[in-house]
Amino acid sequence: MQKQFTLSVKCPHCGQSFMDEDHYLNGFPAVKVTVETEQEKGILYLCPIYGCFKHVCTIKLKDHEIVTLYCPHCQTSLMREVLCKSCTAPMVGFNINVGGKVNICSRKGCQNHNLVFEDSNDLINLFYDKFDARY
Ligand SMILES: [Zn+2]
Ligand SMILES: [Zn+2]
Repeated sequence: MQKQFTLSVKCPHCGQSFMDEDHYLNGFPAVKVTVETEQEKGILYLCPIYGCFKHVCTIKLKDHEIVTLYCPHCQTSLMREVLCKSCTAPMVGFNINVGGKVNICSRKGCQNHNLVFEDSNDLINLFYDKFDARY
């Protein structure tokens, strides 16, 4: 059985939350980031459910296009030096509020993503936050 859980994420640079209480996806506050293609810049709202790829974007993204994501607060790039294992596009990194990181592929349509826990306490905190606290 796979349990769905949502992630609250923030900027790895300025620490401000990306969760947008004004925009909901699947009933949860969306993850709001600035998105840039070769042509234009817009806002991208991502579903906060881990493993869900539902998103809303204010600009048109082409299939398989690599986009650059920025923090909407400090405008720092969220691109990491890590490349996607499936398609070699750069990965985008968010910090999880309770600790740890989530990486997603910057190529539209690629569903590669992973959670990174450099500290095992981060993982424990996440599970306490997601499963125990709620029931
Ligand atoms: Zn920032
Ligand atoms: Zn990829």
